Amino acid sequence: MYVNPYQNALIGVDHGLKANFHTHAGTGKGTCGHHEIHDVLESYQDAGYQVLNISNHDLLTDMNQYGEEYDIVLINGYEYSMEPHMLCIGCDELCTGTHQEAIDSCVEQGGFVILCHPNWIRKEYWPWKDIDNIRGFTGLEIYNHLIYRLEGSGLAVDTWDYILSKGRLAWGFGNDDFHRWQDLGRVWNIILSPSRSKSDIISSIKSGSFYVSTGLLLSEFEFENNILKVSACFRNTYIKEYKYRFIGQDGRVLDTQTGESGVYKLNGNEKYVRVEAIGENGAMLWTQPVYNPDCFEKP
Ligand SMILES: [Zn+2]
Ligand SMILES: [Zn+2]
Repeated sequence: MYVNPYQNALIGVDHGLKANFHTHAGTGKGTCGHHEIHDVLESYQDAGYQVLNISNHDLLTDMNQYGEEYDIVLINGYEYSMEPHMLCIGCDELCTGTHQEAIDSCVEQGGFVILCHPNWIRKEYWPWKDIDNIRGFTGLEIYNHLIYRLEGSGLAVDTWDYILSKGRLAWGFGNDDFHRWQDLGRVWNIILSPSRSKSDIISSIKSGSFYVSTGLLLSEFEFENNILKVSACFRNTYIKEYKYRFIGQDGRVLDTQTGESGVYKLNGNEKYVRVEAIGENGAMLWTQPVYNPDCFEKP
C-alpha cells in the first residue's frame, strides 16, 4: 500500500545525475550573479555536475545558447523574487504575477517549482500558513547552503515535515544558491533519471526519483513487504559504518541505527517514512519519503 518513489529507479553509486538548481551568474560585478556564466558552467562541469540551470532574480536565462559547449544538461529557469522566493525551472517564459500565477505558468510550460530557503533570516521565512494556500509546487529547498553565509538556517526539514504531515506530497531539494566560488558544490541533488534527456530528468524530479547529498551516495534502497532497507556510502572507501535516521510524521525520529545499512519495518500506521544517512565526517544524504498514497495529495 505504500509507494516507493525509487521503485523504477536504478540505484547504485554509479547511477544518477548530479544537479544544482539554484545558481546566480552573469548579472555583473558586485551583484548576486557576480561571476560570468561561462566560468560558472565550466566550474560546475569540473565538479562533476551533469544538470544545471542559471536562476537569476526575475530574469530568465535561455540556456540553449550554451548547450553545445558543455557536457552538462542545461535547463532554463529563474528565481521568482517577490517575497518569499521560489525557483521556476524548465519554463521558457518569466512570470512576475502572484506566487500562484507564477507556479501555474511554470507548470503549464512543463516545468516545476521549488520553494527557496524556507528558513532564511528567521524560522518560517516561508510562512507555513502561506504554503498552505499555494498549489502546484513540486518541492522545497530542505538545504540551501548560502544561508549559512547569511542569516537564519540553511536547513528546512522542519518545513518539509510540516508539509508532508499535512498530507501534501512535496519533494526535498538541496541547492548551493551559488553567488561566489566558495558556494560551489556544497549540497546537490542526485537524479535517478533513466537518461540524460530533459524530459526524463524533469519527470524523474516530478516523481521524486532523486535524493539530496552533501557527500554520500545511495547504494541501496529496497522496499518490500513494508521493510525499508537503505545503504549509503562515500565513493571509493573502506568505511562501512554509517548512521541512519528514520523520520516520520511531524519530524518524529522513529529509529536511529548505525551499521552497514539501516532497516526499518513499517507497522502500517506511518503516513510516510524518510531516511537521513550520516557519514563519519558529518556528510549527509536525505531520501524522499516512502508514503501511503491514501494520506496524500499533490500540493
Ligand atoms: Zn532567494
Ligand atoms: Zn538565489
